[in-house]
Amino acid sequence: MFENILSRYGLDPMTTTVQPFGDGLINHTWMVNSYDQKYILQKVNSDVFKKPVDIDENLNLLKAYLTDTQPEYLFVSPVKAENGESLIINDNGYFRLFPFVEGSNSVNTLSAKEEAYEAARQFGKFSKLLNDFDAAQLNITIPNFHNLILRYDQFVEACKQASGERLEKAADCISFIIEHQEIVDIFRSILNNENIPLRVIHHDTKISNVLFDREYKGLCVIDLDTVMPGYFISDVGDMMRTYLSAASEEETDFDKISIRKDFFTAIYNGYMEEMKSVLTHDERQYFAYSGKFIIYMQAIRFLTDYLQNDIYYGAKYELHNFNRALNQITLLKQYLKLEQELMSNTLA
Ligand code: ATP
Ligand code: MG
Ligand code: MG
Repeated sequence: MFENILSRYGLDPMTTTVQPFGDGLINHTWMVNSYDQKYILQKVNSDVFKKPVDIDENLNLLKAYLTDTQPEYLFVSPVKAENGESLIINDNGYFRLFPFVEGSNSVNTLSAKEEAYEAARQFGKFSKLLNDFDAAQLNITIPNFHNLILRYDQFVEACKQASGERLEKAADCISFIIEHQEIVDIFRSILNNENIPLRVIHHDTKISNVLFDREYKGLCVIDLDTVMPGYFISDVGDMMRTYLSAASEEETDFDKISIRKDFFTAIYNGYMEEMKSVLTHDERQYFAYSGKFIIYMQAIRFLTDYLQNDIYYGAKYELHNFNRALNQITLLKQYLKLEQELMSNTLA
């Protein structure tokens, strides 16, 4: 399968090795070792990304802009094949080749607040450097990805269609979501606020999407498939959702879910280190809202999938999506209790 691809980059298949690499869940990723260079080869998941060409166009636009304005910035974008294209389309799918970032480490489980700080700083830096780039030029690679109004409507619809058995099981979760509809109303007010701009937003700020050096200083952000116009609350909120608790969304012992307050401060300090010079006064008012926004949206998405018999996320066991929803609701309850304190800690 690889011979045809490698030769299109001028790499000799006889002297080049290709091995599966990393822990990505969406794309297929391989490490490519030629006699003097290392690369990352990826097959784009075209079930998730319906138009891989749109991603490729986005990366090339950003690359051109950053090369021009920020030549020092480490922007990891696909290299060009011999025909000048950065996306190879063949019978096996859509492929691209990135330079391997030498000396880089990935973190899959966040254990130190310093790593949270470094990651938040890298995501902040990315949006800051693109502050003057017109985000509207970018293709939307997943329509309505963080559209909470639509996600809520889909949840209401799923409640109408669900089986009696699943409705009964999910009754308390459904009530919780409905009682906290105010989180959707606030999102609506953000959409209508002209002082909250659309920015270039990463939209997948999990810790494995940052590369670190050997001393665990942040090097750069990677995994740019979901880079689209969006609001800063998406990136900050997903960091809060995935960094604050040591227990992941898969944890079913909900007693293990607890908020690490110093990690909140680390996210704030790291992100603000870069973004404070560009965030508007109105945006700053929604920093703490970010966490509620994303955790609530993820709870809705798991619950909706449970009500729809697991058609989107799938389920390894019957209550999988129900448990994930309950996990996120548990996290949200804890977040809501601490919200004021977390913000006041950042001012100390
Ligand atoms: P996700 O599940 O987060 O969507 P993905 O399937 O889209 O992941 P990536 O995050 O792009 O895949 O890559 C998977 C892993 O490969 C990364 O977490 C990182 O460890 C490694 N990786 C990707 N690109 C590079 C690179 N250019 N240099 C070094 N390592 C890389
Ligand atoms: Mg990734
Ligand atoms: Mg990805």
